[in-house]
Amino acid sequence: MTDSRSAFIAKARGAIRDQQLQEALDLATGRFLTLRGNAFRGLTDPEGLRERAKAIKQRTIRELDQHLERLATEIQRAGGHMHFAADGRECVDILLRLARERGVRSVVKSKSMASEEIHLNAALEAAGIEVAETDLGEWIIQLAKETPSHIIAPAIHKTARQVAELFSAAMKQQLPPDPEALTAAARRELRQKFFQADMGISGANFAVAETGTIVIVTNEGNGRLVTTLPRIHVAIMGMEKVIPSLSDLMVFLQLLARSATGQKMSVYTSLIRGPRRAGETDGPEEVHLIIMDNGRSRELGGPLEESLHCLRCGACLNVCPVYKEVGGHTYDSTYPGPIGIILTSFLGPHPKNLGGASTLCGACLEVCPVKIDIPRMLLDLRHEAERGRELPRGERWSFRVAGMILRSPVLYRLAARLGRIFQRPFLRDGYLERLPGPGAGWTRFRDLPPVAARPFHVRWKELERES
Ligand code: SF4
Repeated sequence: MTDSRSAFIAKARGAIRDQQLQEALDLATGRFLTLRGNAFRGLTDPEGLRERAKAIKQRTIRELDQHLERLATEIQRAGGHMHFAADGRECVDILLRLARERGVRSVVKSKSMASEEIHLNAALEAAGIEVAETDLGEWIIQLAKETPSHIIAPAIHKTARQVAELFSAAMKQQLPPDPEALTAAARRELRQKFFQADMGISGANFAVAETGTIVIVTNEGNGRLVTTLPRIHVAIMGMEKVIPSLSDLMVFLQLLARSATGQKMSVYTSLIRGPRRAGETDGPEEVHLIIMDNGRSRELGGPLEESLHCLRCGACLNVCPVYKEVGGHTYDSTYPGPIGIILTSFLGPHPKNLGGASTLCGACLEVCPVKIDIPRMLLDLRHEAERGRELPRGERWSFRVAGMILRSPVLYRLAARLGRIFQRPFLRDGYLERLPGPGAGWTRFRDLPPVAARPFHVRWKELERES
């Protein structure tokens, strides 16, 4: 755990100094937040809607086994095939078996964090299967041989110039750093891959138990092509993505796009129910749904269960003061940001605890469409990380002294008076800079407010007298 903390700190230092990354993050997260704010203002009762969504998620996770069972029955009734994977390895094995048995040589994929979670592309390529990501952001990342740095905007860290360089190299022609020209070039290049692919792999934003419907929300239309053009469609989802009914879906659809990109609705919402039927002109011959556990069921009934309510909208990343400075790659995990820290602590074979990588400001809870109490869970992770750790003697003493001071008004006033005297050499423009000794770590990257000239209790008494 200490290793992952040190690795985070080292990477964060690099990210903070990376001017291009800082500009890209500022631009993208700022824009998402403004759009989100505007979109929520258009709702008549946003708080009521969020409460309803939260209640649906709570109820669904409590009755998860029943909903999964119903989903499996309805998927099969609609002509689809169901698979359950206990972990990422099993999920990959199921996919490779399906591909082998059906002679699949090329695959097109739409955006799927579940497939990122199990490193599916590497496994398919190792088996000799050609994989093409078709979400624009994911394709950029694939060409750059990187991993996504944001849940909904995988290439958020890339500038138009960097994308132009990647596309020019891949398409062997010089392309300008113009988003429209780049999108048109990507469209031409990817269209052929859709026609050639034997299998389409997608994620699932939701799966409706009562109807056996797989729901995919996208903005680019690639999801629709991935799930209809190839002869086989395989959707992969974490077990928590099941929802009971279509009326529940309507609640989440009002919140998801608003929280993610500030749209009232995403451009495409695809509801897939089974393969192509007799007489239909398009759609795949086979539809498979793989439901993956990969550590999720361990958290049912536990302190981190609430993280299974997540819609993967990414709003908590856009508002997080840590994510906004360090970007997604610093977390070195599939899921970055506040919710990513929690998911990373239990998903997959190598969970890690990055509970300290947060300011606990609470902004994530404020924006979360399903009101997940992320700060509470981050605190739980911190407790977990510290449990059983023997504090160094210096830290033990300083906490003991702080405890004594905070318990005694006399000592508190004395300490504040001494603080006001000793802070003088370090005061610059009203802030404390470059403190010596143990304070140095605090002031290396930021200034601290000084001990106030007039303490709060004095000002409070004055206010009382004035009123
Ligand atoms: S925790 Fe909430 S805000 Fe963050 S991605 Fe999940 S649903 Fe969105």
